[in-house]
Amino acid sequence: MLKFRKNARSKKFSLADAPVCAVSVGTDDMIADSSDTAGKLVDAWEAKQSSLVDLVNCVRGGAPVSDGRLILEDESRYTLTGVAVDDAVLVVARDTSVNDQMTDALLKSRSLLKALLDRATDLSFEVDANRVFRFISPSQAFGVSLDGWIGRSADSFFWREGKVPSRNPLAARAEKTFESVSVNFGKGAAAWVTFSVEPITDEAGEFTGVRGVCRDVSSQVVDGRQTRMDNLRMALQQRIVGLLNSAHTYEGMLDSASKELMEVLRAEQVWSVMKFPEGLVPVAMAGEGTTIPNIDRIWQQLTLAPDLVCEVEEGGTRHLAVRLEQGDIGIGMLLICRDTSVFPWSDHEVSLMEDIIGSLAAAFGKAQLINKLERLSLLDELTGIMNRRAFVEAVESRLQHQCRTGQSGCLLFVDLDHFKEVNDTLGHKAGDEAIKLVAATMQTIVRACDIVGRYGGDEFVLWLDDIAPADAALKARVLIDAMPGIREKIGAESLKLSASVGISASVPGLDLKFTDLSERADAALYEVKKSGRGHVALAEIPSGAGNWVVGGAG
Ligand code: GH3
Ligand code: MG
Repeated sequence: MLKFRKNARSKKFSLADAPVCAVSVGTDDMIADSSDTAGKLVDAWEAKQSSLVDLVNCVRGGAPVSDGRLILEDESRYTLTGVAVDDAVLVVARDTSVNDQMTDALLKSRSLLKALLDRATDLSFEVDANRVFRFISPSQAFGVSLDGWIGRSADSFFWREGKVPSRNPLAARAEKTFESVSVNFGKGAAAWVTFSVEPITDEAGEFTGVRGVCRDVSSQVVDGRQTRMDNLRMALQQRIVGLLNSAHTYEGMLDSASKELMEVLRAEQVWSVMKFPEGLVPVAMAGEGTTIPNIDRIWQQLTLAPDLVCEVEEGGTRHLAVRLEQGDIGIGMLLICRDTSVFPWSDHEVSLMEDIIGSLAAAFGKAQLINKLERLSLLDELTGIMNRRAFVEAVESRLQHQCRTGQSGCLLFVDLDHFKEVNDTLGHKAGDEAIKLVAATMQTIVRACDIVGRYGGDEFVLWLDDIAPADAALKARVLIDAMPGIREKIGAESLKLSASVGISASVPGLDLKFTDLSERADAALYEVKKSGRGHVALAEIPSGAGNWVVGGAG
């Protein structure tokens, strides 16, 4: 309660020392009395400040009490209360400037905070325990409208196509930030959002929902991926260019290229297949596994495909096949295999291969050149088939390869029977002709993956890849059956010229050197010679083969 001192002379209350800001306005509109601190209020009355005048008039009009606000030019603010005291109107003012400033500052800082929040986040939300939206702000985010989403499942907003992550940020039971969560707003394009969430609990500590904010980080994720892909591409390209300069054999070069790709693409197998005039040859294989892809069929598919890199289906899995060209001519292909039911090929991987295809084609081109030079020095001059050194090396590389694939092949030793008789009867030239015809016949009975060689004199060798001995014996029979035709061609019908064949099947992992196999094939051939010539004999499987069964796809 205000206490007013009584004026001794007038016996009326005096405001002079009252600890408030107050004035008393008389009926003549003059200030009848004022407190010591009421200077501004007196000035306002004398300046006829409308809110003050209105308040006084209101009391004069009969209102027992009247309230008002007074804002002065110097920004000071007052709350006014007017009451009738005798004939005068007593106006008491309370300075609210400081309070108002604080309120203003608070409001300002809240809007500042909201602006900051809006800038840092794309969406603030609250969901209940069933992940149903309870609150959303603003009503537009990620380029989609959130109107009408209150009361609906937040899962179906963020994962429109239903792929809700197992670590769902909307079900978080602790304060946590979920970085770059893959979301889908149903527009097809992939998007990533970072969620910062905290669980909400009731007074009893029961979980009642989650509140949080989220921000679209798609561009950062895409940029990050692009940078990683760029780095990978550069590293791979550098390594392939390095191979171009360091590898000395074409097999070594392609072997290294296959290994690099296997590592980068997390593949199980990478095949480097060269296209030679005589057909496709898998020159290098990195990785483990027993399945040999059907390279002829895949090559055909690749040739028909509009792109140089494409996925080809085989046995329920999808290989990534890369056709390498020089000019418009296919010089080889890379076949990259992995379990695509678990790790399908991504667009990034396909585009990585497309980007490095130039370097790979250069590597294959150089490999082909090296191979050409090697061949020239490795071919038998008379027949054009591999000479002994080339054949031995090629077979040894296949034997090494078999350690990984587990597939077996067969070595055939062929020695012409009574060949000297041709030389002696028809002359050396006719003998040469017979040798050439035998080599040509052998080439017609083999597949692209097989190897034909002249071991020396009238001896020939044949490597048949991935074949059962019985099937190899059938091939030998075809050669033997072709001998009468050769006799006829060189005018030696009356001579006994024929062929004897000894066959040894390889034991993967056991036969590592050519001599391991050739000794057995030679022994079988010796038996044929001893028992009359002109037929085939199979060598025994060595005792070290254990339970291994000689076999193959044929
Ligand atoms: P066998 O039935 O026991 O195998 O006896 P063969 O008459 O076939 O004689 P053999 O295999 O022991 O010897 C091969 C002969 O082939 C010896 C050599 O004079 C002859 N010869 C080796 N190289 C050539 C060649 O390039 N041209 C010709 N015309 N003859 C060759
Ligand atoms: Mg002979």
